Formats: sequence, structure tokens, C-alpha cells
Amino acid sequence: MTDGHFNFSDEDLIEIPNFFRCTLKNEQFKTCSMCENSLENSNYIIEKLIQNNEPIVEFALCTKCIEGLMASLSKESIKKMRDQDDPFLYMEGNHCISCQKNESETKRSIHVGMFLGFQYVADSHIWTCSTCIKSKQKILSKKTREKLEDFNRDILSPFSSDLDIPVFSF
Ligand SMILES: [Zn+2]
Ligand SMILES: [Zn+2]
Repeated sequence: MTDGHFNFSDEDLIEIPNFFRCTLKNEQFKTCSMCENSLENSNYIIEKLIQNNEPIVEFALCTKCIEGLMASLSKESIKKMRDQDDPFLYMEGNHCISCQKNESETKRSIHVGMFLGFQYVADSHIWTCSTCIKSKQKILSKKTREKLEDFNRDILSPFSSDLDIPVFSF
């Protein structure tokens, strides 16, 4: 994620699954939820917070906004988060990437997928349960927690929910 562009082959890019449609507007996300720039031709992620099978928060975030957010977080926290991460092991099936619980065992989970233009990067959909996110959050510095809370407030403003976990998982 250095120059804001990833290289994907044509086979990697497929139609966006219904799961990642914008539920509020009942269409594909067309603009970044933070900077409102068009997502056409850009790399971005879509995150959805699912509670009891319903999306309660969802947003698209372009690479520039992700990089801006990361730059505002404390370097120490980012390093700690990365050190803590288990080596990524892709497992077939529907599991939390940290604890391997399946969806029926979790109440809330944060789902992330990667996109390029109006196409989905195949197999990029991963999710983490809220229990794992909360336990990861404990090691963050105060500065980083405050930044993530600000981000929550900004990104959640269209929604009426108040969340006690960071919706941006990195
Ligand atoms: Zn943006
Ligand atoms: Zn988990």
C-alpha cells in the first residue's frame, strides 16, 4: 500500500457481491464515505459491522483516507498491533480470522473487503469478531484510541449508533 495502487490480474477482479452493497441506498458504494471522492478507478475497502445478521454500520474508505488515518495514529500502536497479529493464515470457510469462531458463535463482527473501481478483489472478504477486536484494542496508546474514537464519530454520523469498539480494524 505504498503508492496507493495494487496490482491485480483480471481473474482477481470480479463482480461486487451483494454483501458489499450499500444497504442504506440499495446500490454499490460510489464515493468514499470520508472524502466523498469517486471510487471509480481507485483502490478502496468496504467495512461492514454486522450485528445479529444485520449491517448496522457500513462505509467505503479510499486508500488515501486509510493512509491519512494510519499516519495520524501513533507509530508505537501500529507496531504493537502488527507484532501481535498471528501470521495470516487463509482458511477456507466462514471464520473470525483471529479466533476461528464461526458466524453463529459471534454476535457482532467487522467485515472487510478490498475493491478496485467497481470490482471486488476475489477472496479478499475477511472478518473479525468484536471480542477479538476489543482484546486487540487494549494494547493501543491513548492517542491512537482517541484518534479511532474521532474516526468512529465521523464515520458513524449518518448512523444513530454509538459504538464502543473501533470500526476501523487494521
Ligand atoms: Zn477517501
Ligand atoms: Zn474472534
